[in-house]
Amino acid sequence: MEWERAQHAVYDVCVVGAGSAGIACAQGLALQGRRVLLLDRADPQPPTLKAEKLDGEGVQALLRLGLDPAVTAALTPLRRVGVYFGRRYLATLEPRPAEAGFLYHTLVNQLRACLDPRIDFQRGTRVAAVETTADGPVVVTGTGDRVACRLVVLATGEARGLVEACGAVTTPVAPYTTFVVAASYDGSLHTAGRPVDALTFHHPIPGGPVAYATFFRVGHDVRANVFCPGPLPESWAADLQAAPTAVLAAGNPRIAALTEGWTATSPITSRKVHVFQLTPPDRTGLVVLGDAGHVIDPAGGGGLVFALLEVELFLREYAPAWLTGATVPAPAIATYYADPRRRQAVDRFFGAGRYIFDLNHDASLRGRRRRWTFILRHRLARVGAAGSPTGEGRSAWPLPAPYLYEQFAQARLARERVLSRG
Ligand SMILES: Cc1cc2nc3c(=O)[nH]c(=O)nc-3n(C[C@H](O)[C@H](O)[C@H](O)COP(=O)(O)OP(=O)(O)OC[C@H]3O[C@@H](n4cnc5c(N)ncnc54)[C@H](O)[C@@H]3O)c2cc1C
Repeated sequence: MEWERAQHAVYDVCVVGAGSAGIACAQGLALQGRRVLLLDRADPQPPTLKAEKLDGEGVQALLRLGLDPAVTAALTPLRRVGVYFGRRYLATLEPRPAEAGFLYHTLVNQLRACLDPRIDFQRGTRVAAVETTADGPVVVTGTGDRVACRLVVLATGEARGLVEACGAVTTPVAPYTTFVVAASYDGSLHTAGRPVDALTFHHPIPGGPVAYATFFRVGHDVRANVFCPGPLPESWAADLQAAPTAVLAAGNPRIAALTEGWTATSPITSRKVHVFQLTPPDRTGLVVLGDAGHVIDPAGGGGLVFALLEVELFLREYAPAWLTGATVPAPAIATYYADPRRRQAVDRFFGAGRYIFDLNHDASLRGRRRRWTFILRHRLARVGAAGSPTGEGRSAWPLPAPYLYEQFAQARLARERVLSRG
């Protein structure tokens, strides 16, 4: 019955995929008064190993969309973050606003529960194709239903079939794959005798493939995420999958002391993530957002933050103008992909992954210099200074949060001024 109504309704936008990007997009469009159809093949979102830490920038983006109840229900604030390099303790940072720990499916299901009621959310509906007609795009479901609208947003995550069928070409990006392991523990976190909400170990095992291991609070548990970007010997993968804290503890006495006596409260989950970027489809009335367009190396973090801020850029600067017409011409959509603020953000987030990889693996003089710079920067950081575990290119984010892309634009202008003086 619901679905029948949907078939005959005229929607401004069909958003395909109700993960974090699709939800943010549908919510923002509904707040702008658009008629939105949101479709997802899976409801509820099943447990899946994806983002489990969100920078304060991302939390602010969710709050700006009025998704506060989900933020409160799903996110554990991480206010004090201890940072190690190897076994060397560097600093305790207080990122402002606080980062957050969570389980991805909990966050997505909570976000779905507080969607604007004007959104027509068709749960359990798989989209099989998007067609372009003279009147605009048409979404075709797996059961053959057809829905016309003015704009289709593909936010289908890593499931690349649909986006590739629409003409997108995906290109793998270094380090190409990252192996990730996660588990929850009954334990506590502390550094230098003081409690913290998160502890991050860069380069935890000398000569090993683990670039980054982080322990952080999610509710009453401590969650562990272990990231190995690049090629990984089978033996390491098997050992990490079997007992991640034991592998880390064997190579790092600080982690051994920290995790002593911890007991697992969840199964150990692992997966290999393929890092890639997309040449988007050149199609009238079709835009791609979130992981459907770019899977950022999770070792550098930020994929979810980027998805949320990318959606915000789309909502604030493109959607209002696009949706004045019957449909959205491909060249207009191309200007969104080419937006210099978006491109800079893409470079920043992919760059963070490369940075973490080099911090662990680069044995050259440049790599050694980079490691010392990293260590010194953290050693010199005041306790309580704003910062983030990656320590690269992040800045304080005073409340209410300014718009990230405006910061990028300002940084670019400032650099251009300096260059022109030279
Ligand atoms: C292991 C790992 C760790 C990560 N860690 C971090 C981190 O610490 N911080 C961070 O910021 N980011 C992190 N990320 C990245 C972050 O998880 C992603 O960038 C983010 O989840 C992307 O959201 P999305 O909405 O684009 O995709 P998804 O959340 O995957 O949503 C896609 C949705 O589309 C639906 N769908 C797919 N195909 C169809 C179809 N044909 N029809 C209908 N529905 C469909 C799916 O059911 C799904 O609900 C991590 C990623 C991984 C894999």
